[in-house]
Amino acid sequence: MKIEVASHAGFCYGVERAIKITSEANVADKNLYTFGPLIHNAQVVEKLEAAGIKAVEETHDALNGTLVIRSHGAPESVVTEAESQGIEVIDATCPFVKKIQEKVHRYSNDGYAIIIVGDSKHPEVIGINGWCNNAALIVNSEEDAKQIKDNGPTCMVVQTTFRYEIYEKILNIAKSEIKDLVAYNTICAATSKRQSAALDLAKRVDVMIVIGGKHSSNTVKLAQICADVCKNTYHIQTYLDLSVTEIKKYDSIGISAGASTPNWIIDEIINKLEET
Ligand code: SF4
Repeated sequence: MKIEVASHAGFCYGVERAIKITSEANVADKNLYTFGPLIHNAQVVEKLEAAGIKAVEETHDALNGTLVIRSHGAPESVVTEAESQGIEVIDATCPFVKKIQEKVHRYSNDGYAIIIVGDSKHPEVIGINGWCNNAALIVNSEEDAKQIKDNGPTCMVVQTTFRYEIYEKILNIAKSEIKDLVAYNTICAATSKRQSAALDLAKRVDVMIVIGGKHSSNTVKLAQICADVCKNTYHIQTYLDLSVTEIKKYDSIGISAGASTPNWIIDEIINKLEET
């Protein structure tokens, strides 16, 4: 049995940075909250809770404390609301997401219509939309792209974890509809590197294990990409979700992990497969 981990897998720069910022803040201030779960990984969130760092959905739940804005970012209104309530805000928004927020803010102030390619329910997209008065058209598929009309000068951005192939199709539709379109491919390199490394590996192995939260958008997409080329693809959160005996029947096992999956969870799974 051979186990191979994809060349790019696990924690990305933005997630690692958010965890570092939060841990450092927790040394100085015990009354620490995060706006929503810091990252989409239940095991990491449990560890943060054990360290006294609670996730809140509303700013007033963080009164008298410090509120960390997670790597996905948050709408502008959350930051202003928290500050007006006297809450100290620490911004751990990933710098790549921040750049998207700044773009839509600037273009919308300049009178451009905004299109965000992504999932309207994902916190990153909700956050970005909150930097252009929640006025963006949000498009998640080729089908959705039928709603794209020429509303004058338009700026289009894309959720950092979006699948490039679908984005490309939506971009072509937007180009054919809108005369004055400024489109930014804001898919994060960490995402595309993880996706192509996982695809490359999934093509070569008998079974593919994709590790990460069930709510982690980039992990779900990694699992879809792998399942397209490897019918034995399993999306799991920890080794407890895995039937080790079943997996060990295969000769070659590939492993990939979403950007919010810590290394210790990946190592734990490898150890379980190697030890039994
Ligand atoms: S996937 Fe990219 S954009 Fe998202 S947090 Fe990680 S580094 Fe930032």
